[in-house]
Amino acid sequence: MTEASRGVYYIQGQDEFIPDSHVYVIGIPGSGDLSIVDAGLMGKGKYKVGAIRKLGIDLADIKRMIMTHTHLDHIGCLREIMEEVPHAELWIHEAEAEPVEQGDERGVYGMEMFRTMCMSQYNLKPGAFKFDVTKKLQGGETLEIGGMSWEVLHIPGHSAGSIALYQRESRVLIPGDTVYADYAIGRFDLHGADGTELSRSLMRLAELDVDVLLPGHNRIVKGVKPGYIRDTAEQWAPYLQ
Ligand SMILES: [Zn+2]
Ligand SMILES: [Zn+2]
Repeated sequence: MTEASRGVYYIQGQDEFIPDSHVYVIGIPGSGDLSIVDAGLMGKGKYKVGAIRKLGIDLADIKRMIMTHTHLDHIGCLREIMEEVPHAELWIHEAEAEPVEQGDERGVYGMEMFRTMCMSQYNLKPGAFKFDVTKKLQGGETLEIGGMSWEVLHIPGHSAGSIALYQRESRVLIPGDTVYADYAIGRFDLHGADGTELSRSLMRLAELDVDVLLPGHNRIVKGVKPGYIRDTAEQWAPYLQ
């Protein structure tokens, strides 16, 4: 657990044979208005909550969970974390909020073969990822939360309701699984994914000034070089037609 930037804490995922997403806690300490961004893989809730407590954060200050998207490696331990912060709201982009509310888990598992494998491996029942969503994000909002200002961008492509959170002042970008370090991008073959949209979303992110890149997996990057996202988008463009 480290402070990745002022008001942004990083809890590294603990990958197994399926990756576990990183968690970010955003908000100025002392604001009493903190948000957890993404949850992680099944069984990782205890680790994530423990790491948050170790930071000295009072769980009563966690006001909401915000999901960058609802793939299994991000939503898997959402219920485990919500049990520890039952007062917290749940914010998801509307394109994934509606399936989540209806218990439509095609977008969670991404593909049928993966669903069958995970349900047996983790003993998951249908409806395991059915939640009431407090706030359905649309993209374009500026969230004034935790004494900070975060812009929400709807960046479909990796999944239908992927969002990025951007803090303009400190040039911090939390892009979910859309773009990673080392010129990597999210996969675009799962349910709800679309290569053309992913390409367009990468170009939108490329317009932002980013110093700190905080993706859903792999390493985080401080001191991102100018044009990094544009270079990544351009390298991948031929494969995203
Ligand atoms: Zn994903
Ligand atoms: Zn992921």
